[in-house]
Amino acid sequence: MAFENLSEKLQEVFKQLKGKGRLTEADVKAAMREVKIALLEADVNFKIVKSFIKTVTERAIGTEVLEGLNPGQQVIKIVNEELIALMGTTQSRLTFANRPPTVYMMVGLQGAGKTTSSGKLAGQLRKQGRNPLLVACDVYRPAAIKQLQVVGKNYNIPVFEMGDQLSPVEISKKALEYAAENRNDVILIDTAGRLHINEELMQELQDIKAAVKPQEILLVVDAMTGQDAVTVAESFDSQLGVDGIILTKLDGDARGGAALSVRSVTNKPIKYIGMGEKMEDLEPFYPDRMASRILGMGDVLSLIDKVQQNIDEKEALEMQKKMVSNEFTLEDFLSQMQQIKKMGPLKDLMGMLPGMGKFNLDEALKGVDPAKEMARTEAIIQSMTKEERRNPSILNGPRKKRIANGSGRSIAEVNRLLKQFEEMKKMMKQMNNMQKGKKGKLPFF
Ligand code: GDP
Repeated sequence: MAFENLSEKLQEVFKQLKGKGRLTEADVKAAMREVKIALLEADVNFKIVKSFIKTVTERAIGTEVLEGLNPGQQVIKIVNEELIALMGTTQSRLTFANRPPTVYMMVGLQGAGKTTSSGKLAGQLRKQGRNPLLVACDVYRPAAIKQLQVVGKNYNIPVFEMGDQLSPVEISKKALEYAAENRNDVILIDTAGRLHINEELMQELQDIKAAVKPQEILLVVDAMTGQDAVTVAESFDSQLGVDGIILTKLDGDARGGAALSVRSVTNKPIKYIGMGEKMEDLEPFYPDRMASRILGMGDVLSLIDKVQQNIDEKEALEMQKKMVSNEFTLEDFLSQMQQIKKMGPLKDLMGMLPGMGKFNLDEALKGVDPAKEMARTEAIIQSMTKEERRNPSILNGPRKKRIANGSGRSIAEVNRLLKQFEEMKKMMKQMNNMQKGKKGKLPFF
């Protein structure tokens, strides 16, 4: 799978950052040196690595670290945002001609995956209700025409071919006429590749381009060729003009450097990625999802966003001060719970953590509904007077009985809560001692 090593290395770097309560400039720089090595090892273009590291470092050092959010997580958030920007920010969809047919020219070197990708794409367009036509323009390899016919048959897509006696330009012109007669609204022209870029190939492609005026020229490149893929993309774009890139065989590429470099070097969007042999393995490319995959983060980023949106920063800071100075009361505990509740169902939040899929979560909770547990705790605290919340040591037998009655819970439950609270305070004290004046963290984060 793509990005395996990169993903592992980045997570290792971030694990060290996350363990720190505060980050110094030196911490950030040290981490960025590791990130730089990881990216270079993943075969990302050197220039891109350099400017990526520069941007992330500047942002990380210049960021006001938000309260309620671990500074290490801030750095991860910045790396994530910059990875997304590197890969193009938003999804880049195929465009269609205002008046059909829409013509796509599929170009690329031999073996990159043009023919198979043309078939997969045509199959998907058919599923979307269009009526595609595949056109065989590789007249140099008789096997190429046959291959396209097999692909077409698999997906039940018509294939237009005229053998290998006419020129690709003539075949494409005839294909347009054929499509008009047969009401094909999308035409995918499978052009011939070569082992290397040469003048003859470029001239032929330029001639086809002039003849069919394609809506888009889609360049198919093999991710497994790493930086060569990027060089190939640059050449095709400068000599022919490319509208979008299809990056194939990402499933077989452990490094992923091409995926991280090609957009930035060529400024042309990756529109699809090939993740295998099946039709649906040609996936639309989403920079944000890919970044998430690389960082191995599950949906933690949405979780961080939620925390940022919902936690009142001032209140969070106040709370932290109380925790480190050991003044945290049941009243604060109640208000902390209410803040967490604002973020949505607890189970959903927990499900965003990596490795906490539904199955694991059900197993871990064993029938306990965290929202209900929280509501019970809340009811007990709300049945206490202000004085009792601030100073639980005055809670004697009769008081506990009153609270139990008031909240509809048992005295045992009241006792359990008080014990938990005492343990929590003890833990905070330990944390405080350990951190020696460094900022404490909310126990829930
Ligand atoms: P063309 O010469 O550019 O037309 O390349 P082909 O379409 O013939 O593909 C070359 C080889 O790569 C074939 O064996 C394909 O099955 C394989 N291939 C293409 N795309 C992918 C992909 O995304 N993943 C994997 N694993 N193999 C692919």
